[in-house]
Order: sequence, then C-alpha cells, then structure tokens
Amino acid sequence: MKRTIFALFISAFIFTSCQQTATKKAADPNQEFDVVILNGRVMDPETNFDGIRNVGVKDGKIAIITEASINGKESIDAKGLVVAPGFIDGHQHGIEPYAYRNMLRDGRTTIMDLEIGAHGPKLDEWYKRREGNSPINFGIAVAHEFARAAVLDGFNDWKYLYTPDALYTREKDGWSKTRPTLEQGNEILSLLDEGLRQGGIGIGSTVGYMREGVSAREIFELQKLSGLYGRQIGMHFRNTPGTDTEEINGIQEMLSNAAALDAPAIACHFNNPGYNMVHELLVRMREQGYNVWGEIYPYNAGSTALNAVFLEPEVWVKALGNKYEETVQDVVTLEFYTQESREEMLKKDPVRQVIVYKCPEEWVVDWVKLKGVAIGSDGMPLFPDAELSWDTPYEDLPNTHPRFAGSFAKVLRLARENNVPLMQAVAMTSYNYARPLGEMGLKSMQVRGRMQEGMVADITIFNPETVRDNSTFAHGTKPSTGIPHALVNGIIVMKDSEPLEEFSAGQPIRFEVQEKSRFVPLSIEGWTQEFYAVPEDFGGGVPCCDFANEEGHKH
Ligand SMILES: [Zn+2]
Ligand SMILES: [Zn+2]
Repeated sequence: MKRTIFALFISAFIFTSCQQTATKKAADPNQEFDVVILNGRVMDPETNFDGIRNVGVKDGKIAIITEASINGKESIDAKGLVVAPGFIDGHQHGIEPYAYRNMLRDGRTTIMDLEIGAHGPKLDEWYKRREGNSPINFGIAVAHEFARAAVLDGFNDWKYLYTPDALYTREKDGWSKTRPTLEQGNEILSLLDEGLRQGGIGIGSTVGYMREGVSAREIFELQKLSGLYGRQIGMHFRNTPGTDTEEINGIQEMLSNAAALDAPAIACHFNNPGYNMVHELLVRMREQGYNVWGEIYPYNAGSTALNAVFLEPEVWVKALGNKYEETVQDVVTLEFYTQESREEMLKKDPVRQVIVYKCPEEWVVDWVKLKGVAIGSDGMPLFPDAELSWDTPYEDLPNTHPRFAGSFAKVLRLARENNVPLMQAVAMTSYNYARPLGEMGLKSMQVRGRMQEGMVADITIFNPETVRDNSTFAHGTKPSTGIPHALVNGIIVMKDSEPLEEFSAGQPIRFEVQEKSRFVPLSIEGWTQEFYAVPEDFGGGVPCCDFANEEGHKH
C-alpha cells in the first residue's frame, strides 16, 4: 500500500515537473496564433522590459513575446505604439453596459468597485448578472455602508446590488449617523462576512460619509474581519475631504489597524491635502512588508452626492473654509450652489451629483509623479440610466465628472508633458493595482498587469505621443483618444478605436466561494477573556455613556 502511494507520488511529481518545464519552454513561433500584435514597443512594469517585439496570443494567454516573425488568425499592426498590460481600474462605481465603451476608449480592461461595493448577501448575484455580458473584466468588494443601511435603516429594496443603490439607501441617515448596539454590530459584520464568503474582493468602507455613526472600534472590527480572509479594506478615510492633518489622521486609523491585524488595505483617492505624507506612510509600510497601497484620480475636483455629511455648512464652510459659490458645482446645470440653493435642492433631490473643487490644479502633476501609486478613477454611475445602453452615443450620456471617461489617458498625457518616465506611468495604469491584489492571493491578479509570456492577454495598445483625455467638467463622457486597440482575455475588444460587442470576453475578478464563514461574533465574554477593558456596545464607549440619548451622559 505504502509503495503504491509512493509510486503515485513519484509519477505525480514527474508529471508536474514535465508540465512546469512545458509551460516555461518558449512557444513555437511557427504555430498559428489566435492574435498577433506586430512591431510594437512592449513594456512590462514588473521586469522593466522595454523593447520592440511581436506578441503572439493563444487561448487567452500571452504565448510568445519574440523578435521572430509570427502569424495569427488576426493581426494588429502596433508600429509606433506601446503594447502595455490592460489598464486596471480599482475604483469605478458605474460597472454597467453604458460605461464599457468609455472604459475601453480609456484603455481599461478591468474595472472594480473596491470603495463602496456590493451588498454582502447579493455579491454572487452581482457577479452572475455580468457573466457573459461584459467585454471588460469586473470585480467588487463588500459594502460597509449597505450593511449599515440594511441593519440600521431596514433597507431591503436592492435594485442594482451595489453603488448605484446609494441613490436610495442614502435618503435615510441611520446608515451614516447611528451608533449600532453590539447586537446590530454583529449583524453588520455578519452581512459583510457573507459577502466575503461569496468571494468579494475585501471590504469597501466609506467611513468618511459615516463619521458620526462609525466608531474606531467598528473600523477595527471590519479590518479584523477582512484580515481573517487575508483581504483588504478599501477606505474613503474618516476625515476625507479634510485639512492636511485630518486627512492624514484618517489614513493613520486605517494603517495602524492594518499593522496591528496584519490585514491589507487600500488608501482610496488620497489625492487630497496631506497626500505627500500619506504617500510616505504607504511607502515606508510597504518597505516593512505590509501590503498597503494607495490610488489617485488625476483631477483637482471630486464628485459626490449633494447630501454628503462633509458638505454640510459646519464642515465645508466653517471648518474647511470653503465657499459653496466657488467649490460646489451641479453636474447637470454646471451652476455653482449657494447655501440657499443647496438647501432647496436637498429637499428635491438629496443625492444629486455635484462636482466639488478642493485642490489647486498644480497638485495633479505631483500625484502623477508619485512612484508606486495606482490609478482609481472613482468614475460615478450615470443617472438617469433607464434608457442607457452599450449603444448610447457618447454625447447622449448624462454629464458626470470627467474622471469617468478620462482618468487613465490623462495620467499618460500628464506623464508625457511633465517628463515622468513612461514605464512609471504604465505601472500606474495596471501593475500597481495587480501586484498588491495578487499578493493577497487574488489569483486573477497574479496573471494580469504584466506583459510576460504565460500571463493573461489583457492588453492595451496606445500611442505614447498622442494619447490624451478629452473629457471635461462640461463634457464628462467625451472618450479618450490615442488608444486604438485592446484585448481582454485574448479577445480583441477594440480595434481602430472602435469598441466591439465582445460580451463574452470579460471575466469575473473574485475570490473562490468559501464553504465556511470565518466570522466570530463579538461578545462581552470574549472581550473579558482576551482584554482587560470591555466595551459595552459596538461604539466602544465607556459603559455609562449613552450616545443615542443626550440625557444619558452623566459626566
Ligand atoms: Zn470616496
Ligand atoms: Zn468612490
């Protein structure tokens, strides 16, 4: 019996090693490839390879990168063009057919919503809706704010299953302002746990929209939970947007938890005051082996819903010193709000999209120079969307912040105009997101973001001399130019700047579904055994304080 097992082991070993040798051996250049990309400047941000080569694609993979001449069923002439890993956007809230052509024109072959995300129990359904229905890869995190809306506001009317549902969940304010009891806290965590079990890419937390309701303890428990799965939290920090000190304190909350719990973390859109120190914190922690990283979008204005807590006069005007007249612009009428007109609009349409000017224009170039940083476009879902589809002409799409359509091309243009090395910009568009996600075990990201033999053939081909964004604050959906071709999983999804209806090309980016939950409910007994101090509720408050009731304070 033992001998049989030993023999099996040996033959399995030989079989595996043969296979490994076979995949490492260079592909035969004389075979017929599915697609060949000829005479392009191939750039790989992982190895820093940069040279004129032919690329052969077969069965969805990059089969060969060679100087030899090769043939394929389909051929792309890439002379004068850069052949780069397909662009990866970790922060896109509109993952819908109406968005896909703009995404491809901007070179994006993977779009993920890692900041807000999908409602935990609906995560699998969210993926199922897109399978076979998207030319671009898609992925999503589990939404903290939706778990709170479900538990604290009783919200249960999910239409989109992810970010666009905020149009409805944000009409009430329990999700933002209520401190949960211990029992409610456990319910919130178990909804998030369900999404992680279903394969969600970590947790997305918009704590900056929930400053009153979410305690430091709640964030810590969130990061503990995602850490149990080895996955990240992506966070819109507690004090974003804020002053340079508040912004940094916000990320320090996330990073100290990340270090204490050894849990990965993403600093979402840290293109705000204090960005240089945030960058230094991230770089130094990465040097010490922590898997933490940051993303920026290259615009000096943000975009959000008009009823965001940080746009209230006490914060936006009194604390931060802004004037509505100069900083808060309606995305449809392009008019700037006053305190009065804001209040009127809040009664009619509380979640109306606005553009929020918050940084000097010069800072944008600085952000593009930050080594190791990824791009997260933070593209917003478009409304009204009932009539929108893949075919809707670009000019008929409702206006939105230009980051939706132009973020990646804008980074490449700014890099060109400001002498940022092209390889560094290419790394920003793909590898800088793929690497940390791959490091935390997301297999689909270990084989993307790289132009190497054996990797998945997600490829974006652009002209380094002409690539540029065209979207503006007035015309936010104008497509980028200078990015003529793209492949997703080895399928040509855009040729000569014309996106193609290849809806079978896009694949889900997600973790495998786990059979068992990893969540351990919090309890007074558990805390007593493990730690000296016992918080009475999920707010982590001292036992005599009742946050919900002013008269409950006895100090
Ligand atoms: Zn945000
Ligand atoms: Zn966002």
